[in-house]
Amino acid sequence: MRIGRVLRTSAVVAAASLALAACGDDGGNGGEAGGEEGGVAEKSCEGGGDASVTIGTKFDQPGLGQKTPEGMDGFDIAVACYIAKQIHGDDVNVEWKEAPSAERENLLERGDVDMVVATYTINDERKQKIDFAGPYLLAHQDLLVRADYEEIKSEEDLKDASLKLCSVTGSTSAQNVKDDFAPNADLVEYGGYSECMTGLQNEAVDAVTTDNSILAGFASAEQYKDKFKLMNFNLSDEPYGVGIKKGETELRDQINAAIEKMVADGDWQKFFDTHLGPSGFKADTPTITEK
Ligand code: GLU
Repeated sequence: MRIGRVLRTSAVVAAASLALAACGDDGGNGGEAGGEEGGVAEKSCEGGGDASVTIGTKFDQPGLGQKTPEGMDGFDIAVACYIAKQIHGDDVNVEWKEAPSAERENLLERGDVDMVVATYTINDERKQKIDFAGPYLLAHQDLLVRADYEEIKSEEDLKDASLKLCSVTGSTSAQNVKDDFAPNADLVEYGGYSECMTGLQNEAVDAVTTDNSILAGFASAEQYKDKFKLMNFNLSDEPYGVGIKKGETELRDQINAAIEKMVADGDWQKFFDTHLGPSGFKADTPTITEK
C-alpha cells in the first residue's frame, strides 16, 4: 500500500508542489488538524514530511473536486486534506489522481490510490469490491435543464418522457435512470459531468441528471450562470463515502474518527460554506454509518 511510502527525488517535488497548490488558501486545508493557528495550517497537504497519500478525486466538478490553474479546489478536496492530515500529520504529502466515476473501484482494487474522495455514493454493489468510511455528505439525484426548458414539470413526468438525458458511465445516476426514473429516456453516457454540461449547452441533450450537489456547482459556475435551472427533484439518497480498499478496517476507523472531528470542531461547516454554500446546495452535518 502506498501510505507511508517515502517520496523520492522528482516525485517529491512534483507531489509537494501539486499538493501545495491543491490546498491553497480557501479552506482546502486541514483546518486545525495540526493545531496550527492563524492560517498557518492553510498550506496543508503540501507536505515535506515522509508520509504520502494518493487520493482519487474528480477534476471537473466545480465546488466539489476541480483542477484549476491555481490548484485543486472544492469540498471533496478540503475533506480529503483534512482526513490526510488527521491520519498522517500536517506535513503529509497528498498526490491527487483523477478518479472518473467508472474507475473508482478499479483504482482502489489495483492499489493505485489509498482513498477515493469523489462524490462517491456508498452502496451495496460497490461494497462487494471495496469498503467505505463515512458518509461525510448527503446529496440527492436531481435534473438540470436549460433555463427556458418547460417540458418536464414533475418527477412523474419523467416516467413517460422521451427526453434525451445525459449522465456519466459508472455513476449511480445513470443506473437509476435505467432502473427506475426514466426508463423511456434516451440516455447518453459520457466519462465526466463537464462533458454532459457541454451537451446541455449545445442542446445535444435535454437534461443532465446526477447529484444535486454536483448540478448546483455547475449551475452557479461563472461560465454557466443563469443558463440552467435545477428541477429540485429528490430522486434518490446519495450518501458520499470515502472509498478504501476492502478489508482496511483500521484505515476506515481512522477516517471515520477524522470525519467526526471535522464535524465537531466546525471545519466541516467551514468547508461546506466555502465550497458548496455559494451554489445554494443545502445539507445537514453527516452521521457515520460505515463501521
Ligand atoms: N454520487 C453518484 C455516484 O457515486 C453520482 C456522482 C458521481 O458519478 O460521482 O455514482
